[in-house]
Amino acid sequence: MTAQLKPVTETFEVRNPATGELVGTYPVHTAEDIAERLTKARAAQVWWGDLGFRGRKKRIQRWVRWLARDCDTLYDIGFRETGKPKPDVQFELLAGLEDLRWAAAHAERVLAEKRVAPGLAMLNFDARVSYEPLGVVGVITPWNAPVYTAFCGLAYGLAAGNAVILKPSELSAATGVYAVESFYKANPDAPEGLVTWITGLGDTGAALCRSGVDKLAFTGSVPTGRRVMAACAENLTPVLLELGGKDATVVAEDADLDAAAASITWGSMWNSGQACVGVERVYVVEAVRDEFLAKVKERAAQVSAGLEELSAIGPMTVPNQIEIVRRHVTDALEKGGTALVGGLESIKPPYVEPIVLVDVPEDSAAVQEETFGPVVVVNTAKDVDDAIERANGTSFGLGSSVFSKSHGPEIARRLRAGGTTINSVLTFVGMPSLPFGGVGDSGFGRFHGDDGLREFTRAKATTRKRFDMGEDMQVFPRTKEQFDVVYKVLKVRYGRRFR
Ligand code: NAD
Repeated sequence: MTAQLKPVTETFEVRNPATGELVGTYPVHTAEDIAERLTKARAAQVWWGDLGFRGRKKRIQRWVRWLARDCDTLYDIGFRETGKPKPDVQFELLAGLEDLRWAAAHAERVLAEKRVAPGLAMLNFDARVSYEPLGVVGVITPWNAPVYTAFCGLAYGLAAGNAVILKPSELSAATGVYAVESFYKANPDAPEGLVTWITGLGDTGAALCRSGVDKLAFTGSVPTGRRVMAACAENLTPVLLELGGKDATVVAEDADLDAAAASITWGSMWNSGQACVGVERVYVVEAVRDEFLAKVKERAAQVSAGLEELSAIGPMTVPNQIEIVRRHVTDALEKGGTALVGGLESIKPPYVEPIVLVDVPEDSAAVQEETFGPVVVVNTAKDVDDAIERANGTSFGLGSSVFSKSHGPEIARRLRAGGTTINSVLTFVGMPSLPFGGVGDSGFGRFHGDDGLREFTRAKATTRKRFDMGEDMQVFPRTKEQFDVVYKVLKVRYGRRFR
């Protein structure tokens, strides 16, 4: 267990957004608290580093088994803390466990020392590249996917050999604390500080950015991402930013419209639309517009919000988010859009029932800004080129999708986004072998995959002289003979066509 190192005077409460039930009371950690944890983390990281890839893999796998057996606890915490229906918590846990499993299994292949070609001029050298742990990594997570984002940060940070300090959102602290403490339940021999949680509001997050951690992996909104980057710049702490999205789906003339309507309805409403990779915009080509809209209308009308364990969608987690939804829907309707399903009357705090808006002007807030609610805009495009151009027409670029029986890959290539799914939605999020991250305002850096592991390391180059090869260019004096030899080699090697 990670003990509280100092008494903390300030606390905050986490309450269920629908019932107001108190879920827990947590300390507001200060910069001094973080400094103490950082010292412990640095010492513990040495132990973790010395275990090597195999020792770390064994412990992460043990942790995965423990979490799978204890999944009911997390379903319950997620349901009580954010009001999420249990299948939404389960979806996150599945993706998180898959990340832990994959990162542990592949860390050695991706990061272990490898021999590389030394090049012609240094033929007498052995050349190696290795990916070394950074040391201590800070991970800051949001409330909307608290299980997945916590395990994602922990998976890649730990598998790469680092200690991790996790700061969960103040709205989902219980999940973050559980994620960290479960590691010690599975690995009681691990030293205190290897994985640590700190809790608090924005100030605690900002203090973590300024604490001197070796990297800060932030998942959250664009405005906070900018503040995180600015705070990290003070110590030149590198950052990974996983920010918001405004994901678009293109529905081409040759799409399977039933599959598209089913996937888009789920992709836009899942988790009450509070998903960074939720489908927020759809561009359907004119020729199939009416048929597609009829199918979406039928599907979306069947989705309703509630607080049952198996409700299709749960309450909105944050009251402020409901007001953003209200603003976007009002603006869209005032600017000439129409509501195909629901409308302003669907906003019944703490719930928002599904809203499908059509023909919303491209400069509306509902098209350009992250809505983060069970709202989807379906606009009509002249053709696929028009659809792609408008899909690429926001400052975001996180996920995207396309429905087309014959042209999926070529449309996918033209969509400006970190990931694209063809004939389904969101699937790349659940595949740890693929990199996950955004472009533009959606951030930079990657979780998942080989890139996600390397993100938490520094590349180290090592060379070793194997034998002498004539005159050594790395010692004085310089000779005319040496210059002439290199002169000729340079012309022969680079002065003609080469591959
Ligand atoms: P947020 O930016 O309000 O908060 C995120 C975290 O940052 C919280 O832990 C918060 O306490 C902390 N924080 C706040 N101010 C800070 C500061 N000045 N310095 C450091 N930390 C600070 O975001 P949110 O409302 O919790 O989450 C929703 C956002 O997260 C949406 O925009 C969503 O798209 C995005 N998100 C992105 C991804 C992704 O992978 N790209 C995944 C999930 C959520």
